Order: sequence, then C-alpha cells, then structure tokens
Amino acid sequence: MWAKVLAVAKRRGFIWPAFDIYGGLSGFYDYGPLGAELKRNIMEIWRRYYVLIEGFAEIDSPNLSPEAVFRASGHLDKFEDYMTVCRSCGAAFRADSLVETENADALSADELWDIMRRENIRCPECGGEPSKPEPFNLMFRTTIGPKGKRERTGYLRPETAQAMFMDFQYLYRYFREKLPFGAVQTGKGFRNEISPRQGLLRLREFNMAEAEIFFDPEKKEWGGFERIAGERLRLIPNNGNELEMSAAEAVERGIIKNQALAYFVALTKRFLIAVGIDEKRLRFREHLQDEMAHYADDCWDAEVLLSYGWVELVGIADRTNYDLSRHMEFSGENLRAMRKYPEPKEVEVEEIIPDYRKMGPLFKGNAKKVAEALKAMNPADLHDDVTLEIDGNEYVVPESAYRVEKVRKKVSGEEFIPHVIEPSYGIDRILYAVMEHNYYEIEEDGETYRILRLPASVAPVKAGVFPLMSKDRLNEKAREIYENLRKAGINAFYDDSGSIGRRYARMDEIGTPFCITVDYQSLEDDTVTIRFRDTKEQIRVRGDEVTGKIRDLIERGERATP
Ligand code: AMP
Repeated sequence: MWAKVLAVAKRRGFIWPAFDIYGGLSGFYDYGPLGAELKRNIMEIWRRYYVLIEGFAEIDSPNLSPEAVFRASGHLDKFEDYMTVCRSCGAAFRADSLVETENADALSADELWDIMRRENIRCPECGGEPSKPEPFNLMFRTTIGPKGKRERTGYLRPETAQAMFMDFQYLYRYFREKLPFGAVQTGKGFRNEISPRQGLLRLREFNMAEAEIFFDPEKKEWGGFERIAGERLRLIPNNGNELEMSAAEAVERGIIKNQALAYFVALTKRFLIAVGIDEKRLRFREHLQDEMAHYADDCWDAEVLLSYGWVELVGIADRTNYDLSRHMEFSGENLRAMRKYPEPKEVEVEEIIPDYRKMGPLFKGNAKKVAEALKAMNPADLHDDVTLEIDGNEYVVPESAYRVEKVRKKVSGEEFIPHVIEPSYGIDRILYAVMEHNYYEIEEDGETYRILRLPASVAPVKAGVFPLMSKDRLNEKAREIYENLRKAGINAFYDDSGSIGRRYARMDEIGTPFCITVDYQSLEDDTVTIRFRDTKEQIRVRGDEVTGKIRDLIERGERATP
C-alpha cells in the first residue's frame, strides 16, 4: 500500500525525493506544491486547536543551538540509538531494527548483542557479520562563528521544545505569573537517523509541532475538561491490556495518571480525526518503563495502523520538572514559579547576620559588598570560614565574622519548579498517515481510479473549476469563478483539458473535495454545478454564490458530501 501512496504522491506533486538530480539522500524529502499546501493546512488546523482555542502562546526560535543547551537537556549524553555496522560491506543499521523482539528499542547494547549472536543475525544487505552495537548520538553537530577563539560547538535541535524551557521566565511573565499555561512551537527537528528507510516516517530533517504546558505539580489539570471528558479513547496501558473508555473514566480509574495528560490525549484524538486519521486505526499506547525517553515520567503515544504496521504519530509525555531543573542547574538561573498563599504566612527562616564590627577592619571599603554577598548565600551552605569571589577577587570571611539566626518572617508564597506535559507531534508522519488512511482505489470500466478522501479543510486544492467546453464564453465564466475563489483565499485549480470525467478523476486523485462546472445552462440561468467528490452528487448554485458556498462547506469541516 505505501508504495502505491508514495507513487501517487510523487507523480502528482505531493512528495519528491530531495536532491534527486544528485541521486537523492535517504531521510530527506521535498514537499511539492500539493504537499506543501497539505502540510500548511495540517499545521493551520493544529494552530487552531492549540493557539486559537486553547490559548497557547506561540514562539519561534533558532534551529541551531550552542552546546550548553543540550548538555543541560541531556541530549548530549543520552540521545542515542545503538548502531551496528556490517563487517563485510560497511552498511550501518539500528541494532534494534534487526532484532524482532517487541520493544527492541528499549533494550541495552548488551541485550541487543546477546539476541543478535543467539539468533545469528546477519547484515540484511550482504549477509555479512554485524558488529557489536555501539551508542550513536543522533544530533547533527556543527560549529558556530569563525575558526579560533570565538568558535563554538553547535547542534541542530533534535526537538523544538528546549526554547520553551529556556524562555520559561519570559513566558511566565507573559502569562502574568499564573499557571497553568501553554506554549507552542512549530518548526524543524533534526536527527541523524542511522538508516532511514521508511519514506516520510523516519527523516533526518522533519517538521514538528510541540506544545509545553507548565503546571503546578500539585494541580496537573487543564481547564475545561468537561468539554473533552466524554471522548472515547482506545488505550493500551503499560500492562498491555487494551481497553476502551472515556477520558474521564481513564482518569477516575487511574489508567491515565492525571487529568491534564488525559486532556491532551483526548485533544490529540480530536485533532487527528479532524485532519483525516481513521478513528478505527488509531490507539493510544502507554510507554513501558524502560522505553521512556530520558526526560519522561509517563508517556502515551498516539499510534496509527499503516501498511508499515503501528506507527507513533504523537508522543504525549509528562516530563515532570526535569527540563526546568536541569536548565536551572546548568545556567544558574532561577526558573521557578511562585505559589501564592491565600494570606501571607509567618514562617521561621534562617538568616545570615554579618558582624560589621569585624567585617569593617577586615575588608575596609569592600566590607559592605562582602556582607551583601554573604547574606545572599544559602545559610545551609555556610560552614566555618567562607570564601567568596566578588568581581574576580577572593575574600575569606572567618567564622567569627557572622552568625546564623532563626528569625520569623512574613512571606506571601513559596517557590517551586513547574512540571511540564508535552504533546509532541510529528507533522510528516501525520501527513503521510492522512494520505494513506484516505487513499482508495476503485475499479470502473476496467480502469483503476484513485481517490484521496481528504477532509475539505486539509485538501490542498479545495475546488476544481471547469468549463464544459473551452468555448462559447463558458471558459470566461469559469475563469471568473476560479479567480473569485482564489481572491477569497480558497485554493482552486482551473482545468479545461480532456473530458469532464478525466478532469474529475484528476481532482479526485489529489483529494479535491469539490468541482465546479460551467455548462450551457450556466449561460441561460447563471447557475453552475458543484460536484461532491465522495458521493459524486451534484447540486446547482448561482454563479455569484459559489465562493460563499464553497467556504461554508470547508468551514463546516465536512467530508465531500452536500
Ligand atoms: P519524540 O520526541 O521522539 O517523541 O518525537 C516526537 C514525534 O516526532 C514522534 O511522535 C514522531 O511523529 C516524530 N518523529 C520523531 N522522529 C522522527 C523522524 N526521524 N522522522 C519523522 N518524524 C519523526
């Protein structure tokens, strides 16, 4: 099946192999005109869900980041797959793709190597002997700046998420210091996949749409759950037993750990169905403990059944406070939020009291500076003599020059590190899955017709516009309708060549939901036909009402039926 879908996709201008005239490069594709439009439509619907309806803030940050970011995020140490190389032909493979064990990607290098030796696994290309699996970091590394002193190591981001963590304080202020709030970013992710072979499913440069929702860990809830609570979900918790239940029930029974996670699982289902995923081939699977990414505490994947098998389209992970804690640790910045008490509270705290009579003679003109630096320290860290570094100078404060006292203070709240839930969508996989789930072949009169039954809102071309004949003013009238549609922002396609049946077939194949034909009756009563792709029904509407009618049909979000 995938071969047929990709063949149509290539022939009709959805997806082309990148760098094709130089022999191509695996893991890289171009979107042709229809693919680029389809992708944009899917992204727009995603934005509508997250930015317009849920009120998330969208940011847009660089693809290239300095090394410090990924040292903190853990990607430098942990973002790796196990690679095995054929000793005969030198081809490299992901070791887990060679072993047929379920969840092979959760196995360690030693476990993979044991299975490979026990089952005498050979190179799929030449039958040679594969090497022991070694970790291979998936990030693309480069340098930033000119050679020499200012040169820095940089990496292309493997996910868009980090910017939202690094910008936490800006976002927190933007949302007037209230939690929970959500931020999103869409853009490219880069992963140097070892041996990408499955079309759009495993790319080295791909399109992501990620949301990060920041919570008070004591309240992992997203408002308006009742809107989504009844959504039926097909769930496979990590005990492997498949269940079907509403989002509300999944929370009540503790199948999904918290309300917020369930909210974004249900929202993901709604979004995927809106863009054309078949509900019957969609499920949510919880990660096994050892399958989880280094940052996650719990994770549910939206998986769809494709001709390749079950494929992850979206990961919805509870990242706890991992990311913010790590960036705090590595940057030294405070990425905490404040939990305000209903009333200010009186609490007992330890305070450092410098003894100015001793500090003065010791530090002279710098005494005030030293005392301030001392007071800013954490009392728990003070032992004996304290060495402080201020403006590049060292000052040793003897134990006799300060004391730590318990004092009572009024405080208005307490600080904490927010937790994050992240729905992370792979747009290329979604786009491919939408094509495959909506691809139909129909045999008619000994010929094979291909139809892409895309929802009107995602279809790259919304309307084909045809004059029945390219003469007798039919073409002028058809052109006028075509131009009016495009002026109104509706992507239309004008076609006056070949039989009307062929023209319909060409539009069906690229998923165009509506075709407008100007015929001889149009010259008499100024009406045209609108033909619906999926039912082939036709209605007549007035020429000057066509644009409004097509817009209504798209906005109703319906499939191509009247
Ligand atoms: P992850 O951060 O690994 O959970 O990835 C988030 C989403 O990005 C996945 O659910 C996939 O849909 C998508 N994705 C991950 N890796 C690739 C890849 N190499 N090519 C295309 N899409 C990918």
